[in-house]
Amino acid sequence: SAKSGGGGTYHFFTKTMNESAMARLVIENDLREALAQNQFELHYQPKLDLRTNRISGLEALIRWKQPGRGYISPMQFIPVAEETGLIGKIGEWVIGEVCRQIDEWNAQSVPPMPIAINLSPRQLIEGRITETISRILTDTGTPAARIILEITETVMMQDIKKSAAILDELRHLGLQIAVDDFGTGYSSLAYLKRLPINSIKIDRSFVRDVTIDTDDAAITRTIILMGHNLGLKVVAEGVETREQMAFLRESGCDEVQGFLVATPLPPDEIVKHIMRLSENAATEL
Ligand code: C2E
Ligand code: MG
Ligand code: MG
Ligand code: MG
Repeated sequence: SAKSGGGGTYHFFTKTMNESAMARLVIENDLREALAQNQFELHYQPKLDLRTNRISGLEALIRWKQPGRGYISPMQFIPVAEETGLIGKIGEWVIGEVCRQIDEWNAQSVPPMPIAINLSPRQLIEGRITETISRILTDTGTPAARIILEITETVMMQDIKKSAAILDELRHLGLQIAVDDFGTGYSSLAYLKRLPINSIKIDRSFVRDVTIDTDDAAITRTIILMGHNLGLKVVAEGVETREQMAFLRESGCDEVQGFLVATPLPPDEIVKHIMRLSENAATEL
């Protein structure tokens, strides 16, 4: 088949092949198979509340474990899933799996905390996302307040009226809304006023050099201040060093997420990690 050769590496994910229709078709078939064969998993990455030094929530991040190939990054297959429309089915699986996991953790008396789910543009705009989520929550008996939906700003800005209407429906269900990768799109903070959102996540690209680049420092501080003035919680993503965390704490950022706190981990490992962190939160970080 077209994916053979090269010592088992996934040739279609090289830049050039990724462009070709043939490659897309093969990935599309593989994604269908992945759904049918249950090859997707969710890993979870915590967010740390900078005021309490406690884990305040988790983000579910999809992983594709292809037999014999190991994990394939969502950066590689989510765009294909978007283009082919398979994101609808994959996204439904993610929501259902998060709800199942919440139920399992409840049964194990894991302290309850909100779990964030990433939604792709097409899921938000094209699907009947409110009906889908509402049905899954009802079927699984999951409280809506346990779910945060992460949506990138670009999709909201494309059709702000429509986005606002859909987000309103989702908020009425009791879900929380976060703007993901904030600062990378074209939105201004003034636009945020028109959207029913709860929090913004400052993109990793600003956080990376926040302690050495004065522009990134200024942008980050401004996002935090204006976010707070609009009544929003502000989260920073991609925090890898203590220095970055100290800067964010001094700047009034509410929560941080990143490898410094924890990498995304499978369900069992994240629970162990949270238990360890809650015992030594202040000292370890
Ligand atoms: P995102 O939602 O912005 O997620 C953050 C990404 O940054 C994750 O990559 C995470 O592993 C990575 N990350 C977290 N902390 C650090 C850090 O300190 N340093 C660095 N260098 N990276 C960090 P991942 O898991 O590969 O996901 C990539 C993107 O794929 C996500 O970006 C999200 O847009 C998308 N994605 C992931 N899971 C899903 C899903 O279930 N559905 C949809 N539609 N998209 C998803
Ligand atoms: Mg996210
Ligand atoms: Mg993000
Ligand atoms: Mg990001």
